[in-house]
Amino acid sequence: MTQLQQIQIGAQPIDRFLPILGDERVRAAQRVAGEMRERLKGRVLWNVNSTGVGGGVAEILRSLLAYPRGEGIDTRWLVIAGTPEFFRITKRLHNALHGSKGDGSPLDAQERSIYEQVLHDNAEELLALVRPRDLVILHDPQTAGLAPHLMRAGATVIWRCHIGQEQPDQEVERGWDFLAPYLEDVPATVFSRDAYVPSCCDDGRSVIIAPSIDPFSAKNQELDEATVRSILVHTGIIEGPNGNGTPAFVREDGSPGRVDRRADVLRLGRPPKWETPLVVQVSRWDELKDPVGVLRGFSALVNGSAPANAEFVLAGPTVEGITDDPEQAVVLNDVVSKWLRLPDSERNRIHLVSLPMADVDENAAIVNALQRHAAVVVQKSLREGFGLTVTEAMWKSRPIVASAVGGIQDQIEHEADGLLLEDPTDVAAFCAALSRLLEDASFAEQLGRNARERVREEFLG
Ligand code: UDP
Repeated sequence: MTQLQQIQIGAQPIDRFLPILGDERVRAAQRVAGEMRERLKGRVLWNVNSTGVGGGVAEILRSLLAYPRGEGIDTRWLVIAGTPEFFRITKRLHNALHGSKGDGSPLDAQERSIYEQVLHDNAEELLALVRPRDLVILHDPQTAGLAPHLMRAGATVIWRCHIGQEQPDQEVERGWDFLAPYLEDVPATVFSRDAYVPSCCDDGRSVIIAPSIDPFSAKNQELDEATVRSILVHTGIIEGPNGNGTPAFVREDGSPGRVDRRADVLRLGRPPKWETPLVVQVSRWDELKDPVGVLRGFSALVNGSAPANAEFVLAGPTVEGITDDPEQAVVLNDVVSKWLRLPDSERNRIHLVSLPMADVDENAAIVNALQRHAAVVVQKSLREGFGLTVTEAMWKSRPIVASAVGGIQDQIEHEADGLLLEDPTDVAAFCAALSRLLEDASFAEQLGRNARERVREEFLG
């Protein structure tokens, strides 16, 4: 049975960045690429992770891998396969590394045996493709157990971890104890922040690389107002008329794309009008993104009277077909049941949106339009590895209210590039921050301008 899935990646030249980053930085990147091309001659640069769609890692790979290919480095992307039990265990691990108990289940010998068996099967297939001296970048806990197999076969392995917790506790230790044996001999590890490097990797072989976005992707490319409006009307997220735009965008491979599918929207009354200011959070349906807390915050704000007559959109992917994260359906159900219990006066301003995932570029274009149209973007996470949704909104010059957790703190300086919530569970502070941005347009605009500059300087691939 075929297990590994190869994700197609395009080829893009680095000098596409010239208008954004200028000559000097682009030439520097090309020099590095040229050196790598020489050193990797005849070898392949593999990337292996657990999903081709949804979530930050897939987004980063999609954003980065076309550029080495464009510079003549044979770069490929593979996605492992696993059983539901394997992905339950790796989600448990993911939560542990964030200092959260998740489903509270053990991470003992039995779990280890299931984890190793699935990765053993994947490794067999992988080793038919990978040659000695190939470079393999493994991403996140789901793939760490592949490292010993690959190194025995003579590949050079790097493990890149996109999550972490700045204050290790018992849960975090439990997660690292599980993973450490597979990482012992890996020559290099990559983390998103200094504070995330665990003691088992803190021996001179870890480097810090901040995650990044691609300004030309379907997720981040410029869309004019008429296109944004057309995409949001077409998907049913806002009310018509459509105006004179078309829901068109450019796909990752440079070919034309169009948003055809509708979003699945749960709402009580009418869709918001084009003129209605929207407060938007877009995330996977994950407890650590605190969707229930967001709902509570929105309803507390509506309960007064929503400043600027705003309405609220809580959006995430449709949950069908997400294999590597079994908890999303449960979390979405919980959000829906809490929403159903809100009084009508609050419910009719809060829209729950599931975005179609059948076509990943189309999904990205919808997220793009939604982020661009947002009066305020929210990311009220309880924990966050880095928080690409924040980077994406910053690049679109949006004013943001986000929790001061994880990598969000590396992106936003409070009151300079956005507003930070010291305590993500403080509903009053959340409401106050939203009101401030909805009511003070010039302050909101200033934050948005600074945010875009910050991303240009630090968070482009
Ligand atoms: N995302 C998406 N469609 C959705 C929900 C989320 O494309 O319906 C994307 C989002 O735009 C971002 C990524 O998933 O690029 C989430 O990355 P982030 O670092 O914010 O969080 P993670 O999901 O990795 O915890």
